[in-house]
Amino acid sequence: MGRDERGVTPQHEDFSAWYNELVAKAQLVDRGPAKGTMVIRPYGYRLWELIQDELDRRIKDTGHENAYFPLLIPESYLQREADHVEGFSPELAVVTHAGGKELEEPLIVRPTSETIIGEMMAKWVSSHRDLPLLLNQWANVVRWELRPRMFLRTTEFLWQEGHTAHADEADAMRETMLALDLYTEVARDVAAIPVVPGEKTAGERFAGAVRTFTIEGMMRDGKALQAGTSHYMGNNFAKAFDIQYTSEAGQLELCHTTSWGMSTRMIGGVIMTHGDDKGLVLPPRLAPYQVVIVPIGRGVQGAQTSAAARELAGRLKAAGVRAHVDDRAQLSPGFRFHDWELRGAPVRLELGPRELESGTVMMAKRLGDEGKQNIPLSSAPELLPGVLENFQAFLLHRATEFRDAHTVRVESWDSFTEAVASGWALVFHCGKAACEADIKAKVAATPRCIPLDGAPETGRCVLCGDASDYGKRVIFGRAY
Ligand SMILES: [Zn+2]
Repeated sequence: MGRDERGVTPQHEDFSAWYNELVAKAQLVDRGPAKGTMVIRPYGYRLWELIQDELDRRIKDTGHENAYFPLLIPESYLQREADHVEGFSPELAVVTHAGGKELEEPLIVRPTSETIIGEMMAKWVSSHRDLPLLLNQWANVVRWELRPRMFLRTTEFLWQEGHTAHADEADAMRETMLALDLYTEVARDVAAIPVVPGEKTAGERFAGAVRTFTIEGMMRDGKALQAGTSHYMGNNFAKAFDIQYTSEAGQLELCHTTSWGMSTRMIGGVIMTHGDDKGLVLPPRLAPYQVVIVPIGRGVQGAQTSAAARELAGRLKAAGVRAHVDDRAQLSPGFRFHDWELRGAPVRLELGPRELESGTVMMAKRLGDEGKQNIPLSSAPELLPGVLENFQAFLLHRATEFRDAHTVRVESWDSFTEAVASGWALVFHCGKAACEADIKAKVAATPRCIPLDGAPETGRCVLCGDASDYGKRVIFGRAY
């Protein structure tokens, strides 16, 4: 198919044009009227709901409870933690007028909720028996965005933010890593994104955190996407908001807090990890429609295939498959096939008069080289769950191979610049902030993470030649 109105610019020609055209044409999203805002359309919102379901279940299974805190936060709250306010100031939207009057104290539209939740934690925690306090909130946040990209960087986005308070560092660190594990699992097992969990360097840390952990995925243009982060805050927010408890020994102690978030950015990750020149490729666990049935034929025959398609969809749904019948008879079968390729449905079933007569249906997978396959109508509900499971595994395998093929261990600056032009470099770094900044200025690459499972190793910094910090190699790459 050429690049007509329905198609998208090929990835190798212009990856970001491919992305921008695709999110619109696949009807995931539209631009909002205020700068940098997005309207999430039903197909995109369903994808988000499926991510939410998977994540929310895991959050609750590990003992956390959902709550909801106000959108508007008094300005003075943010000022109580110096690093936090400094980090967020440039992105804040501030309400100065309300009810026709200037407010005595401006209100911040939340960019994140550490401060307001910290204030409440201080009220709710008094004894060691109140700990740990394990909260999560599903919400929208606002961070003013000058260079918006749909799902990746928007002025308003949706997310969950976990906020917990603990008696000591050990318990808070266990929590920080638990949240990172949840994210790793959702990314890998649900979104089929083989993320690398690791720690951020000091320069990439969250504003106000003592340690920041991340999961990093590789997109099909070789860039990294930070898909979820988990922070250990030490006592920073406990000091700022007086989150204290009386220990068993009767001493007044400061809590140790954590926060962690995953957002609608994850949808951008799914698009850029699996999509191709024909459009989206959705992992079955996140596909709004896992199987799309396209009945073919006109007049009486069309009525018969449509009825058979609806009957089949009913049986597939009963077997736990999200099935959809596309009986837009005014559109040619070819148009409808292309449309579902663009929108990334994992499996398409074509049902024409000939198939109906022989009691079969033609199955076409969104990816894979087996071509179309005739399967019996009667056993489709038993067959399809396995087909979808294999497709899910295939996507994870393919993305893992791609990531590994574009990750290179390098020692010299020349091979470093070559590696980060098309993927990730595993290198030694001195750990100095100025050296990190130099690398960023020269090749636009940043330290994505110090991988948790990296082998202990030492060497010389790839740029300045000083002794390496961290005790292992660091992943550098260009990032979204
Ligand atoms: Zn260096």
